[in-house]
Amino acid sequence: MSQPISGRTMVAGVVGHPIAHSLSPILHNAWLEAAGIDGVYVALEAAEGGFRRLAEGLKATSLRGLNVTLPFKTDALAYADEVHPRARRAQAANLLTFAEGRATADNTDGLGLLAAFAEQAPGFDPAAGPVAILGAGGGARGAAAAFLDAGCPHVRVVNRTLGRARALVDDLGGEAYAQADAEAAFQGVQAVVNATSAGLADASAPAFPLAATPQGCVVMDMVYKPLVTPFLAEAQALGRPTVDGLAMLIGQARPSFEAFFGRPPPADLDVRALALKALGG
Ligand code: NAP
Repeated sequence: MSQPISGRTMVAGVVGHPIAHSLSPILHNAWLEAAGIDGVYVALEAAEGGFRRLAEGLKATSLRGLNVTLPFKTDALAYADEVHPRARRAQAANLLTFAEGRATADNTDGLGLLAAFAEQAPGFDPAAGPVAILGAGGGARGAAAAFLDAGCPHVRVVNRTLGRARALVDDLGGEAYAQADAEAAFQGVQAVVNATSAGLADASAPAFPLAATPQGCVVMDMVYKPLVTPFLAEAQALGRPTVDGLAMLIGQARPSFEAFFGRPPPADLDVRALALKALGG
């Protein structure tokens, strides 16, 4: 773990495209202030295809590292000199740390997912039964790896493009389902996680048959704008316990902060309230 350097303002940031509405600077800067650390966390927008050039330029500075968001998580993995097994398994990196001219990639999305379940569905035990994951991109891979590493006996991956679901389970284990077969995938699961990027404004967003999930099945959506997505609203209407994407965002930011600034963020600061305010909630 890197240590703070006294006498120099520590800088870290998040890179994406677009990035203007990222909540990460709000979380990290509030933690920095509460911890009394001389540091700042900034949002940086790279041009499409421009990640490597930006990262290379920043690596030569005193920047501690970067969080990486869409669409650059694969570029970050490819750019790194060293890769944590978690990022390798997810085939995506949301965290790059810089030290002695080298970049190390990690993926804290899976840690964030498990932290979100622990916080909002405290009775949930990953080892207690199968889970279904919707989507087969970096978020879905990180989720599958995190559940399996936490003892989950079986993951079922449901995706619009069946070939991508098959590639995921070939790498990590589990069973692949076409989107049309979601009902079969939902039988007997103890959790369903939406890791598709199909959003509220997306007319092609699929409707998943959540009524086919067992009573008590925990339903989670990685999307947090709005906080209660139509997917979560449907789950709540069915009486299913839910976990939101903001809890995951905060859960992935905590280990990132520690990697950048050398100590965990203050536990007693309510950054969720700050994030909700920024979301307009
Ligand atoms: P990604 O790699 O681009 O994968 C996107 C996935 O969504 C693919 O499986 C894709 O299916 C599917 N998809 C997109 N549009 C769809 C549609 N109209 N109908 C059905 N499936 C559709 O993205 P990602 O990095 O995995 O991220 C996924 C989502 O999770 C994003 O919304 C991201 O913001 C969110 N996320 C949140 C957090 C958090 O901390 N809360 C962390 C990570 C990710 P195909 O394979 O068929 O294209």
